[in-house]
Amino acid sequence: MSSLSQNFIRDKFVDYYKQKSASILAPSSLLRREFGFILLEKKVMLRHKGFKNVEDLRSSLVNIVPSDVYFSSAYYERPEDEMKAKGWLGADLVFDIDADHIPTPCAALHDLWVCSSCGASGRGKHPKICPTCGQIKFKEKTWPCEICLEASKAEAIKLVDILTEDFGFSSDVLTVAFSGHRGYHVHVESESVRGLDSLARKEIVDYVMGIGLEAKFHGLGKSNMPERRVSGPDLNDQGWRGRVAKGTYDFLLTASKNDLLKIGLKPIHANSLLNHRDAILESWKKKGPWGIIQHISLETWTKIAEYSVEMQSVKIDTVVTPDVNRLIRLPNSLHGKTGLKKVEFSIRDIDDFDPLKSAVAFNDGLVKVDVSEVPEFRVKNQIYGPFKKQKVELPTAAALMLLCKGMAKVVQ
Ligand SMILES: [Zn+2]
Ligand SMILES: [Zn+2]
Repeated sequence: MSSLSQNFIRDKFVDYYKQKSASILAPSSLLRREFGFILLEKKVMLRHKGFKNVEDLRSSLVNIVPSDVYFSSAYYERPEDEMKAKGWLGADLVFDIDADHIPTPCAALHDLWVCSSCGASGRGKHPKICPTCGQIKFKEKTWPCEICLEASKAEAIKLVDILTEDFGFSSDVLTVAFSGHRGYHVHVESESVRGLDSLARKEIVDYVMGIGLEAKFHGLGKSNMPERRVSGPDLNDQGWRGRVAKGTYDFLLTASKNDLLKIGLKPIHANSLLNHRDAILESWKKKGPWGIIQHISLETWTKIAEYSVEMQSVKIDTVVTPDVNRLIRLPNSLHGKTGLKKVEFSIRDIDDFDPLKSAVAFNDGLVKVDVSEVPEFRVKNQIYGPFKKQKVELPTAAALMLLCKGMAKVVQ
């Protein structure tokens, strides 16, 4: 990166940590937390930091000017010691949702690869071999597009629902935040989870993702004599039973013939389900659609239920939650890939939360940048681009997003 761009990013990050210092709050039990910083220019991680008070934390942000700031989900007796000597006392339960783990159709349009050797680039997943120079190492650049951000938010909504409804966590112990890039974090801070080991946390991951879940153990089967009809879970059922019902409800409400064929149904059964859509809808007032269409077998309903599990399951990063020593991004700190900040918000506001408004950290100034290539993007209410090999003057927040992504350079 050019030093002009690098200096611009550094200046803006310094400004932010000076001016918005008061927005940086200490996590609970500050003395027990480990902190980590990624250094702006060198991109190396500085770990095993500890702070006595929030003022020390704030002033070190101004002095170090990190590209990214993290604190441990864990509590330690000695956070600044090496890993083995820290004295683990417990950890919050954390979840990370990232568009990288959600298959969105737009990824092939906006994600870029760049050859590490010659700089050749293209869209979507990188090729095996660079078509220009024949080398095999690539950097991938993902993009915080609106569709991907919406997809992440939908997962966060499902996760919060499972944590409150199935696990019974009160909203007081849950924190939801936009990560500042392409995802959401959910943080559970409660005595009841603190002591869980990695395996116990893995069990929670499996539950949330519906791994190994079979509908036959959740109410789907044949009823007893005399009719031997198919019966299944109800919308009012608790836990995964209710989720299987809800997934089935949602799917059959709008499914096209093609949707039904894609999950492995025979055309005759797909037609039959579509012809009975009104009856299916009506059936949820009683026992659900499971037994109402004569020749739709248990096997067919099982395929539908399996798909509904897939839809209801939450796509989380499976590595993060079981890690009892995980570092997580500090709220209101800047994300080094975007210049947006990580923002927490109330669960009640999740539906209307707009990350591209709430996470904007810079409101003043214009800067001229030379853009290599970016898709159309939005910051607050303004749409920019698409740009390709052109010089444009942009507001600081929009320019920073491109500069941090390495998709533009500051020009004089
Ligand atoms: Zn190359
Ligand atoms: Zn996208």
